Amino acid sequence: METLDFAPGMVFTERGRLYTESLCPGKRVYGERLVSSKGKEYREWDPRRSKLSAYLALGGKQFPFRKDSTVLYLGASSGTTPSHVGDICSEGKVLCVEISQRMFRELVSTCSARRNLLPVLGDATDPGGYSAFADSVDIVYQDVAQKRQAEIICGNMDAFNAKYGMLAIKARSEDVTASPESIFRESEKTIAGRGFEILDARSLEPYEKSHEMIVFRREEPRERRTRSLSGETVS
Ligand code: SAM
Repeated sequence: METLDFAPGMVFTERGRLYTESLCPGKRVYGERLVSSKGKEYREWDPRRSKLSAYLALGGKQFPFRKDSTVLYLGASSGTTPSHVGDICSEGKVLCVEISQRMFRELVSTCSARRNLLPVLGDATDPGGYSAFADSVDIVYQDVAQKRQAEIICGNMDAFNAKYGMLAIKARSEDVTASPESIFRESEKTIAGRGFEILDARSLEPYEKSHEMIVFRREEPRERRTRSLSGETVS
């Protein structure tokens, strides 16, 4: 098992397959293969089941995660990719936001076995609804398959003063009649127009049809939000 040089100690590879080191040895989340090596257990990270894995499998190298990162994950569904992000940020935490009651029930069960995943029933278009769970985060990762995906992630980046953003954008959710390329360029323009620098924009084909991963960062670090004497959060 070798580690990826741009994700040291966080993402591993063996014979062309990707793995994360399991925080919960012996437990599968979605039927993934478990592999033991030198006393550690690794979970295979399937690029057909996770857009973040697909990004890496397709040569993406912009990887803002650190072991101690705090991540806001929007569109957590039942927790497939969040569980791998939790393995990666083993000393940090992952706030997992999901809007669907049905998926949330499965998410709660995934998170219950993992100390650094926090499930939150919430709507990514309304960051105020979950702002009580964190003052700031390092990274916002978004995979929500709905309209206005670029605006939604930028709103969350600002609300939580995040440095890095990763947007798995689904063109068909924006407009089924427009070409995916035009949706991707428009979304990149929106992100750049909100003061972020695009680090990578990469198609996720053939793993995900009409999807792109956009990785970006805040150009100028904003002053960190502080609490006033009265306890309210001020900018
Ligand atoms: N990211 C997940 C993974 O890789 O394991 C898969 C996410 S699935 C493609 C998209 C999820 O986003 C769905 O579970 C859907 O309910 C959720 N979603 C859609 N709109 C949302 C919103 N406004 N806020 C939070 N979640 C949303």
